[in-house]
Amino acid sequence: AKSEGKGTYHFFEAALDEEARRRRQLELDLRSAVREGGFELHFQPLYSMAEQRLKGFEALIRWNHPERGLVSPAEFIPLAEETGLIVQIGEWVIRDACARAAAWPGHLSVAVNISPRQFTSPVLAQTIVQALAASGLPANRLELEITESIFIGNVERTLAMLHSLRGLGVRIALDDFGTGYSSLSYLRSFPFDKLKIDQSFVRDLGRDASAGAIIRAITTLAAALGIETLAEGVELESTMEALQREGCDLIQGYLVSRPVPDGAVPALITRLAGE
Ligand code: C2E
Ligand code: CA
Ligand code: CA
Ligand code: CA
Repeated sequence: AKSEGKGTYHFFEAALDEEARRRRQLELDLRSAVREGGFELHFQPLYSMAEQRLKGFEALIRWNHPERGLVSPAEFIPLAEETGLIVQIGEWVIRDACARAAAWPGHLSVAVNISPRQFTSPVLAQTIVQALAASGLPANRLELEITESIFIGNVERTLAMLHSLRGLGVRIALDDFGTGYSSLSYLRSFPFDKLKIDQSFVRDLGRDASAGAIIRAITTLAAALGIETLAEGVELESTMEALQREGCDLIQGYLVSRPVPDGAVPALITRLAGE
């Protein structure tokens, strides 16, 4: 039994080694992707149910890995956060998103995800100002998606940062709304432009009565505060109908379209233009 235990120990040790090696390799690959421009943005429609037309797109990053093909952000954003590479990656995202959006019709906006570490970076505001200037995109066509986790830590500083970003004329959306611990208190402290209701509530709509009640409560509250609501992860027609009944303004999800590469954006704009 003793030798068996030792064997198990070696087995785990080897597995940990293997995991550490894999991570180191991933980090090296990520660094060269940052140097050599190995990323691309895909775009997913943000669609107004009331107006029955396209309002803009969310930019979602993909890593074009030399051997592994397109790698999902779920796999590398956490590592990019830990290593600080997210700041450079995020700068590229803002610049590229603004440049792409500047070529779209003037009523369409672009939303970019800002990770917590990027949010605290002192160069964020400057990056945005430069990206807007270089692309010619009006500030009100850029939306920043932040999550509640930026409020962990120094709330005063977070609020000051939010106000200074808003001062640039960009819009601010609260992403993954409802998944944090005290979402509601943040609505009192900052006038967000949009709440993005997390997929987990949207998915359970129709299956679970409490999901409907929660979405109704969010949209009622948001309407009273003058904040737009968007439901994420809408895959079914029936979900869209329920969301419309619950007073939600916008939807995003596979029902309208999956995220698409830049080249497929013009065709989507035509399909979703409305009349
Ligand atoms: P997120 O911001 O909540 O983005 C929505 C995610 O839901 C995207 O996954 C999108 O492809 C997926 N999605 C959209 N519609 C549906 C649907 O109908 N059903 C389902 N099951 N999923 C749907 P993606 O593109 O893999 O991105 C994952 C996360 O990675 C994002 O979650 C965001 O937190 C992060 N991310 C993506 N791009 C960036 C970026 O440029 N910068 C930063 N910091 N984070 C990013
Ligand atoms: Ca997002
Ligand atoms: Ca989200
Ligand atoms: Ca999410």
